[in-house]
Amino acid sequence: MRLFARLGVGPVASRDYATWQAFFVANLPEDRDLWARYHALIVMHCKHLCRKRSPKCGECTLAARCLFARSERTP
Ligand code: SF4
Repeated sequence: MRLFARLGVGPVASRDYATWQAFFVANLPEDRDLWARYHALIVMHCKHLCRKRSPKCGECTLAARCLFARSERTP
């Protein structure tokens, strides 16, 4: 939720797990291996870059497409 809400992708106003799960189910092919890899990559990205209290937007390859990073640069 944190990563995608910051990116501005998905049901960003929701904090409901089921709502987010439904979003991913609707937008990804039904492929268990893909979902497992996707989940692992999200967890790694959030652990190393998109951290809860101190995101490392300056090191993030998603920064150019990220609403949070763009808003942080705007005075
Ligand atoms: S640019 Fe920053 S807020 Fe956006 S996904 Fe990367 S680490 Fe997270």
